[in-house]
Amino acid sequence: MEKLGKLTPEQMAVLREGATEPAFSGKLLHNMGDGTYRCAYCGSALFSSGAKFESGTGWPSFDSPISPRAVELRPDTSHGMARTEVLCGRCGSHIGHVFDDGPTETGKRFCMNSCAMDFEGSGKERETGSKASR
Ligand code: FE
Repeated sequence: MEKLGKLTPEQMAVLREGATEPAFSGKLLHNMGDGTYRCAYCGSALFSSGAKFESGTGWPSFDSPISPRAVELRPDTSHGMARTEVLCGRCGSHIGHVFDDGPTETGKRFCMNSCAMDFEGSGKERETGSKASR
């Protein structure tokens, strides 16, 4: 967990306490670059840029994880809602929720927190999900 000391309080609240960042606040929302979205906590690959789509919700959205075991799904009944929580398959950090109203053939909408992910462009440059600059 070499990145722990570099995470912002907002990232810690989302990743470790299941908070949700405000809609339209995330740096990766409109990122359409080619590459891989990784867990901001442990660096594990979560989503490929090819799975990203514009959902209009204000959160970066994907139609499928990069592999079935990249994420772990768990029922979440907090806040009076029946939702499915999405966790990093490696470290268990909270990344977002998944819904069954996706527009592609998978039918899924993985609604993610920008700040819970880092983007690694195929050119290998890294973009952080946090608005804070490093
Ligand atoms: Fe992780």
